[in-house]
Amino acid sequence: MRGVNECFINLDIKFSCFSYVSIIPMQIVHYPHPALRFKSVDVQQIDGTLRKVVRKMFDLMYEANGIGLAANQVGLPFRFFIVNLNARPGNEDEELVFINPVLSKRKGDVVGEEGCLSLPGLYGDVQRAETITIEAFDLSGQGFAMDLDDLPARVVQHETDHLDGIMFTDHIKEGEESDQAELELLKFVKNFRDAQADKLFVVDEALQASVQAMADSGKISADFLSTPVHKLTPPEINREE
Ligand code: ZN
Repeated sequence: MRGVNECFINLDIKFSCFSYVSIIPMQIVHYPHPALRFKSVDVQQIDGTLRKVVRKMFDLMYEANGIGLAANQVGLPFRFFIVNLNARPGNEDEELVFINPVLSKRKGDVVGEEGCLSLPGLYGDVQRAETITIEAFDLSGQGFAMDLDDLPARVVQHETDHLDGIMFTDHIKEGEESDQAELELLKFVKNFRDAQADKLFVVDEALQASVQAMADSGKISADFLSTPVHKLTPPEINREE
C-alpha cells in the first residue's frame, strides 16, 4: 500500500500526481477499462517475465473462480490467454496457455450462457461455433493445435475475442436480454467513472497511453508485476434467475 498524493512511474510513462488511496499490484480489470477494447499485438518473445505473469494470472483467475483469462484483462495488450476448465489449482496439466492463438474451421452454431471476470455477476446467452480448431504456442515456445467442442470451444472463442477487444456482451442479440445487459453495463461504467472522479483510478487517457506504450514496446516490462495499479470494486448486480 502506498499513501496519498504519491507519484510513480508506470511503464516509462510519468503520470502527473493523482491522489492515490488504494494501490495494489497486477489485478483483473473491469469494464470499461480501455485495455478491454484494445486490439492486442502478437507476443514477440516467450521469456521469464511472461512465465511469471502467466503464473500470477492463474492465481488471479483461481481467486475469481474463473476458467479463462485473457492478457488484456490484466491490462496487458498481448495476444495470449490462459484456461483451466476446473477453475482450481493443483494439477498443472490442466493449465493451458495459448500464445498468439489462431482459430479456424468454425463449424455449427450453438447458444450457451457466458460470464466474464471483467464483468463479474453479469451473464448472457451467446451464439458460438460448435466446434473449432485452435493453433497457438505454449510457454515453452512449442506450437500446437487442438480440435475443440463444447465448453472448451466456447472458452477459447470468448478469450480470443478479448484479444480483439470484443466482450461477450457484444454478441448478445437484441431484445429483452440485450436491454438487461445494457443496464448492467451502465452500472459498471458508473462505478468506473465514479472511481475516476474520486481519483481512486486514473483517467482513460492515462490508462490508454500505458496500454499503447506496452504494445509499442513489443514486450512486457520487467517491472510490470511490481508496478502498482488501482483497485476498483465491481458494482452489485442482482442476477435474475
Ligand atoms: Zn471474459
